[in-house]
Amino acid sequence: MEVKFNSHGLVPAIAQDARTGKVLMQAYMNKEAYDLTLETGYAHYYSRSRQKLWKKGETSGNVQKIVSVSLDCDGDSVLLQVEQTGVACHTGEYSCFFNTVQEKERIANSSLLYELYDVIADRKINPKEGSYTNYLFEKGIDKILKKVGEENAEVIIASKNPGTDELRYEAADLIYHLLVLMNEKGLSLTELFTELQSRR
Ligand code: AMP
Ligand code: ZN
Ligand code: ZN
Ligand code: ZN
Repeated sequence: MEVKFNSHGLVPAIAQDARTGKVLMQAYMNKEAYDLTLETGYAHYYSRSRQKLWKKGETSGNVQKIVSVSLDCDGDSVLLQVEQTGVACHTGEYSCFFNTVQEKERIANSSLLYELYDVIADRKINPKEGSYTNYLFEKGIDKILKKVGEENAEVIIASKNPGTDELRYEAADLIYHLLVLMNEKGLSLTELFTELQSRR
């Protein structure tokens, strides 16, 4: 398919991290930038403010190696899947889209799981005085497995009782201990989510 450049000779291009799917940035390409991107295997754009062709990373070193180039249904928008070196944004953020204007509760909650996993992972590297997570890691895998088993049983018992107060509490315990187990075994949360995603 042919690219449909707008009346200014530009087409919007979105760069996406090929590994994680994270959207990195949006910029414009003129024909020269588009052709150079295909020919060199590195993302090129056209800077409207500087009015010139621009190889992403030419000054910062944060180049984008092309994994795939796609056009949308009507050819007026380009999607680049890239391997990002360093960060995509000139502010130093990994993605340009760090200004979250609105976030629905469900999404915020799923990142809470990542935060918890990160805290658990951090405890392993930087042990903290009096930390229960460090206590589990020190006792080792058998202790962690025992706790997962116990919390599992407590979820079952809690479910026999009326209401959801006990279940809420025990389910939280089970998930926490499961995350500790995953960390101990070296299974990342992303791998878990990828597995769930593949079953959709
Ligand atoms: P770089 O291409 O990373 O060497 O950056 C060169 C210049 O391009 C920067 O000083 C910015 O003006 C601009 N620039 C780089 N990355 C972005 C971006 N993600 N969004 C907008 N402008 C950018
Ligand atoms: Zn469409
Ligand atoms: Zn379109
Ligand atoms: Zn940016």
